[in-house]
Amino acid sequence: TAIIRIENLSKQYGSGTKALSGVSLDIHEGEIIALLGPNGAGKTTLISIICGLVVPTGGTVRVGGHDIATQWRAARKLIGLVPQEIALEPFETVINAVRFTRGLYGEGPDDAYIERVLRSLALWDKRDAMTRELSGGMKRRVLIAKALSHRPKVLFLDEPTAGVDVALRREMWEVVDQLRRDGVTIILTTHYLEEAEEMADRIGVINHGELLLVRPTADLMGEFGKKT
Ligand code: ADP
Ligand code: ADP
Repeated sequence: TAIIRIENLSKQYGSGTKALSGVSLDIHEGEIIALLGPNGAGKTTLISIICGLVVPTGGTVRVGGHDIATQWRAARKLIGLVPQEIALEPFETVINAVRFTRGLYGEGPDDAYIERVLRSLALWDKRDAMTRELSGGMKRRVLIAKALSHRPKVLFLDEPTAGVDVALRREMWEVVDQLRRDGVTIILTTHYLEEAEEMADRIGVINHGELLLVRPTADLMGEFGKKT
């Protein structure tokens, strides 16, 4: 069964902007799905609703069977969100940043698990460094470590490579590959087809608030191939 079940979701902002209409999608445990679309397509709105940060105008979202409208707390425990902007306490150490986030979820300490996360993200050697000393790529990995701190089943990456150079994009792709091997379910947004193709098992194309199609990456690339 699906870890996330989205049914007929719509969102109209107070300003009148229709950001989403009639979006339905099942996300399966262990898969990596990319939401591909141009700026303003509705990608951030969609993941913000799933994460409980934006209340939809219509439709339902279930995370691990919990309805986000009525069982938000239980649903939120299953989710980790890596936001677009880098927001870290500059004078906090890497390991304390991750411990702090875990505490916010009401989870008790588990340094063995945190060590595993930091090692998996190649941050273990930097655990006692202050976040302000880190490179841009390391800072992004700290954000991922924080998002994984409470052992979520699903990780959201909102535009993980927006505004970064080619080397850092490749580094992020490798991080996602490592998370795949760790069995994390990942939903990422991007406006690069190449990135969706590189990282995702399935691609959902979203534009003007509508989910136009969802296909396994291999099928979609085959279709594009045929047209040329
Ligand atoms: P994407 O992430 O694909 O760039 P967004 O979900 O951010 O798209 O935006 C979808 C549409 O909703 C856009 O037209 C955007 O201007 C609008 N929008 C996003 N957030 C808000 C908000 N808080 N208030 C009003 N309109 C918004
Ligand atoms: P509990 O089951 O622990 O009482 P709730 O499901 O009532 O938790 O929600 C916990 C908190 O999340 C409450 O403060 C509630 O107002 C808020 N909340 C509930 N649903 C949403 C939602 N869709 N978006 C944002 N916040 C929500």
